[in-house]
Amino acid sequence: MKTLLFDIDGTLIVTNDTGTQALETVLQSSFGVKRPCMDVAFGGRTDFSLLNEVLLLNDITPNEANFLAFTKAYRNLLPQTLSECGGEILPGVVELLSRLAKCAEIRCDVMTGNLRDTATQKLDHFGLTHYFDNIFGGDFDVDRRHLARRTALFLRGSHGHEVKDGTIVIGDTPADITCGLDIGASVLAVCTGQFNRDSLEAAGANAVHEDLSDVDTVFRWLTE
Ligand SMILES: [Mg+2]
Repeated sequence: MKTLLFDIDGTLIVTNDTGTQALETVLQSSFGVKRPCMDVAFGGRTDFSLLNEVLLLNDITPNEANFLAFTKAYRNLLPQTLSECGGEILPGVVELLSRLAKCAEIRCDVMTGNLRDTATQKLDHFGLTHYFDNIFGGDFDVDRRHLARRTALFLRGSHGHEVKDGTIVIGDTPADITCGLDIGASVLAVCTGQFNRDSLEAAGANAVHEDLSDVDTVFRWLTE
């Protein structure tokens, strides 16, 4: 059994400014911040890292109580913000996932920097949740490589799956590539996020596609 680990934002879907808007609203309504500062780099980060930095930037102590209050309010607001901001499923995604779902020897999971709950909310919003067995989220790790290592340990413990049996990370950022290579997986990168082909190749991706719309080629590469 081969395991495919898909990133969400910039890989399966784009959600416009949903995250920024929801977090700004939470800072205002739950923490009384008048002019929220969101001057942070988003791409490829875990939400554990990102949200703690956002708290700090807005003069809120990033302790456990504040992190939990922040993430709870964010979860509560996200479905509505997803509806307001629009967004879309990226080209080729539904056809690719549908074809992979018919392969008995392929398991599709999500490995994302999103919190596990907000990842589920995003997949639910776009009707993609049923394609995935597990969602591994960025709830606990500052470094995405640690998320990948926990994911690999879970797959070994729960399914007896070793990375050498065939694990592929599919993502849109150098961080996806780095964490995939770190656990010995192959990486397919797509240019549908904030990074171009040159930067994804430089980060060491084994294959780079503009998007997932060449479903035949991508499917063959992922399943061979
Ligand atoms: Mg991404």
